[in-house]
Amino acid sequence: MSIVKRIATHVVSAPIARPFTSSRGWLYRTRGTCLVEIETRDGVVGWGECYGPSAVAKAFIDTQLAARVVGRDAFDVEAIWEELYNRIKDYGPKGMSIAAISGIDIALWDIVGKCAGKPVHKLIGGACRTEVKAYATGMYFSDMDRLVAEAVEEAEGHARAGFRAMKMKIGLGSVRRDIERVAAVRRAIGPDIALMVDANHSLSVPAAIRMGRALEELDILWFEEPISPEDIDGYAEVSRALDMAVAGGENEFTRWGFRDTIARKAMDIVQPDVCAAGGISECRKIATLASAFGVECVPHAWGSVVGLAATIQFLAALPDQPPCLFPVAPMLEFEQEQNPFRDELSPTPIVQVGGIVQVPTVPGLGVEVDRAVLAKYLVG
Ligand code: CA
Repeated sequence: MSIVKRIATHVVSAPIARPFTSSRGWLYRTRGTCLVEIETRDGVVGWGECYGPSAVAKAFIDTQLAARVVGRDAFDVEAIWEELYNRIKDYGPKGMSIAAISGIDIALWDIVGKCAGKPVHKLIGGACRTEVKAYATGMYFSDMDRLVAEAVEEAEGHARAGFRAMKMKIGLGSVRRDIERVAAVRRAIGPDIALMVDANHSLSVPAAIRMGRALEELDILWFEEPISPEDIDGYAEVSRALDMAVAGGENEFTRWGFRDTIARKAMDIVQPDVCAAGGISECRKIATLASAFGVECVPHAWGSVVGLAATIQFLAALPDQPPCLFPVAPMLEFEQEQNPFRDELSPTPIVQVGGIVQVPTVPGLGVEVDRAVLAKYLVG
């Protein structure tokens, strides 16, 4: 029942009502993704998702990868991963080729779970937890004339919605402007809600250290992507200079990509994305590598309900770092800007109550795709 019959890739896109930007300066006017659908000869369907430019992921799968997966047993998921990677690494050891493999890997795990009658986390080590604490990602830059007010209003909304942790964007070109905005949010939400900041690698090393010292006064849980992802030396320098945790890695790929960052403890927290870094199979390996070096693994997530469900399954099987009487369990990134693929695509959307998301117990990833919604947003 687990032999792969066909692979389909679906590119979807939707306009969003309130465009936003981050410190990179890219204006987001649409949300979209590439969903991977794999069907077995017996009609079991698994879903996966690829992070990044969706047409590129689709091209990699359609022209390079799909034919190597058809006819294979989905239970050979990691053997298939190794073969796909070895076929593609001469021209794509990082980037969209790995995002494409990620989407296939996630869909195969969904099939394996459905065939075994178990949620995916039961098959990748088992339940370290039955629920995950979610943090709201948002507080981008939309209205440049009222950046402080809009961040405060949004933070208050996340707190009212039940979130006990949230992450805001920084990177306004001056420490003073950023700190003014972060301090206003901290005042608005009080001392008991965890607050993280994300600079989307917009700072130099000295600017990041100056910013970090000011942020430390505001009880920030982690400082995400202070500097450019290629600069591992720079990350080591920023991490050593600051008392607060430094995080990054949403744009890194595979165990080999993360190796030097982890072995040198250049970051305190690595954030592989299951839809980008190599799927559930590879993120397990990255997390194990991190654990061996005393680095935390808290995955990045920014896509549809499929990627979010895969992230929850991965998190459910991720041990506390470190295990103790009052552990700080790895949190789920739950992005909150408008995204129909997160909220409408599954008949059973993922919801938080009091900042907590229950880990699905149904077989597979725990979400299905509504084909009418898929058709409505399909590109081309
Ligand atoms: Ca980020």
